Amino acid sequence: MPVTPLNPAGPRLLLRRMREVMASPQPPQQKLDQMVRVIANNMVAEVCSIYLVRAGDILELFATVGLNPEAVHKTNLRVGEGLIGEIAARGAPLNLADAQSHPNFAYRPETGEDIYHSLMGVPVIRAGRVLGVLAVQNVTQRLYTEEETEALQTVAMVLAELVGSGELIDPSEVHEGTFAQGHPPKIDGVALAEGIAIGQVVLHEPRVQVTHLIAEDESVEHARLDEALGSLRSSLDNLLETSDLGIEGDHFDVLETYRMFANDRGWIEKIRDAIRGGLTAEAAVQRVQVDNRVRMAKISDAYLRERLSDLDDLANRLIRHLMGLDQGAVAELYDQTIVVARNLGPTELLDYDRSKLRGLILAEGTPSSHVAIIAKALNIPVIGQVEGIVGLVDPGDQIIVDAMTEQVFLLPTQDVIDVYEEAIALREQRRAAYAQHRDLPAVTKDGVELTLHINAGLLVDLPYLDDTGAHGIGLFRTEFQFMLGSTFPRHDAQRELYSRVLDAAGDRPVIFRTLDIGSDKVVPFLERPKEENPALGWRAIRMGLDRPALLRYQLRALLAATAGRELRVMFPLVSDVSEFVAARSILDREMGRHLRLKHAPPSRLLVGTMLEVPALAWQLEALIPHVDFVSIGSNDLMQYLFAADRGNSMLTDRYDVLSPAALSFLAMIINKLTEGGVSVSLCGEAAGRPVEAMALIGLGLRNLSMTPASVGPVKEMIRSLDVGKLRAYLLTLLQLPDHSLRSKLTNFARDHGVEL
Ligand code: PEP
Ligand code: MG
Repeated sequence: MPVTPLNPAGPRLLLRRMREVMASPQPPQQKLDQMVRVIANNMVAEVCSIYLVRAGDILELFATVGLNPEAVHKTNLRVGEGLIGEIAARGAPLNLADAQSHPNFAYRPETGEDIYHSLMGVPVIRAGRVLGVLAVQNVTQRLYTEEETEALQTVAMVLAELVGSGELIDPSEVHEGTFAQGHPPKIDGVALAEGIAIGQVVLHEPRVQVTHLIAEDESVEHARLDEALGSLRSSLDNLLETSDLGIEGDHFDVLETYRMFANDRGWIEKIRDAIRGGLTAEAAVQRVQVDNRVRMAKISDAYLRERLSDLDDLANRLIRHLMGLDQGAVAELYDQTIVVARNLGPTELLDYDRSKLRGLILAEGTPSSHVAIIAKALNIPVIGQVEGIVGLVDPGDQIIVDAMTEQVFLLPTQDVIDVYEEAIALREQRRAAYAQHRDLPAVTKDGVELTLHINAGLLVDLPYLDDTGAHGIGLFRTEFQFMLGSTFPRHDAQRELYSRVLDAAGDRPVIFRTLDIGSDKVVPFLERPKEENPALGWRAIRMGLDRPALLRYQLRALLAATAGRELRVMFPLVSDVSEFVAARSILDREMGRHLRLKHAPPSRLLVGTMLEVPALAWQLEALIPHVDFVSIGSNDLMQYLFAADRGNSMLTDRYDVLSPAALSFLAMIINKLTEGGVSVSLCGEAAGRPVEAMALIGLGLRNLSMTPASVGPVKEMIRSLDVGKLRAYLLTLLQLPDHSLRSKLTNFARDHGVEL
């Protein structure tokens, strides 16, 4: 089989000619016609053709040299049909010495292509989307060289710019018709916050479109790449060395991986090759990124996909460095915005304009991460663990977040949009129905009365007290105020917030939890030591006791805000009784000061603790005389009970709070505290999920605190439940060797008409 080696200057020459064509002042169709002639000439091909994708996934022949010119704008193939259709569908090149013997060959008599045996085609891809196919053909049976395939791919990139500009095809058609080939229309994820939303994609780390593609001087481009790689590496080193980022495990791992890629010779060599082919440095990075994306869409191995998506992020960063763009630039929001990110910190979510933010999609993320908790508070649906999502979407893409079925729909068709608009309307109706139930008591069918509180932490949460008809605020996460600001909240700012919370609550009780900083809750202005295991580290009350000034300052603001009203204070992450006693004595000292200054004392002071560390569960008898109430923080308690990081998405489904182990443990805690006459509640995410809430009530819990959106569904469950029957059944399950009792409990609910 004869192989014609390509002249090494060939690709560069070809690119130079392409630039001339692109720059020439002729209409786009004539540019295409000239392009095919230039390519055929340069590659010694008898045929060169360009097919572009039109609405309805049709590939239309737009330009050709060698095939019958009459066929231009007449020959159509469906994406997936014939060899050209296959290239588009797979988003990958095809190189065949004998095309006609390929099973997918589709003969189109009007083109006159029956005399050509060999074919090489490459997809025309722009930002991950296939816009068309560029193909060359020869009469002789020959396999094209790898260099030729690469040269054609590079040319396809230039062509993609021309098509993407919208001059050849109406931009709306380009957008709608060019379905991202190889990209599934829907991807599964894990619901992190309930709800459904339709909107347009905003990438948390905006991607840049490179427009300056063809280089003037190769050596300049190599030098530019060196310089950009240098500043990329040092910015990653800086990030790694910054202690407040370094302590966050996930960030740290991700950045380490990035640093590894930034030094990856294979990746950099590929970019250099593309520069040698005549591209600018940024176009070369993008050229390699396109291949990477195509690979990413096809790889099923989750780990590899993640690594490729790391590389995608890194390529974006490198392009930004090359284009001299600000790394942290904030993208413009659409009226209905869905933010897509690899992962997001809770404060980063709060940076987005709430009036435009409709949903969030993360490649990582777990249900009990704080970003999920904040999203719930803001009523923003979130789907996490959507693999490779960042590389699969483009800014402005329409997208649906369905946290009910745990799916994301990319570029949905109108039928799908209609269905979802209907579903959103129905959910609104349902919410309105819950609102009507707001004044009904949370009483079971057999007359057991429950107390339902909401979790809060921001001013936006306060109206939910009235909207849901909750009994009060069972957990006010005071750290959210600290996480939001860039400076330490002064006494007056703290007092003002707490006072407004108490004003909004009126007669309803509010439990203020003192600062719970550390682990994934990062306070921007606080210098912290680097820790190997931040979740097991210096956080919450441990910090409060070691740096009592911070805690004292906060307690002082709480006492001032109370101004003669009732005050309930709760300490986080208490691990043994002595820590509670020490924290309580700091509060007592502050109270003494408050009284000495002749300020009004609280009408009543109740002091309690979170139960989040298993060790405390074995000291309940000793704890009971000291506390007025206990709130079980199941998010942390479960992570420590099962030794499973609550923020690690690989462990999300590994352990279940509805397991015999967890439920027996919770039953023991609830029984001991109830018998000891101490009020006990649960304020972790489990309280807001109807099946979990049902099980907890079955164990004897009568007080739950949850995200506001859960109050309606949980109350509906309660009003349809017979606790006596459930308890009798549940107690028979606790000794089973099952991994989880979830399906048994769900079946119980179904068989007994319990609304879940
Ligand atoms: C918990 O750990 O369950 C809890 C409510 O606290 P946070 O989620 O804020 O850590
Ligand atoms: Mg906690």
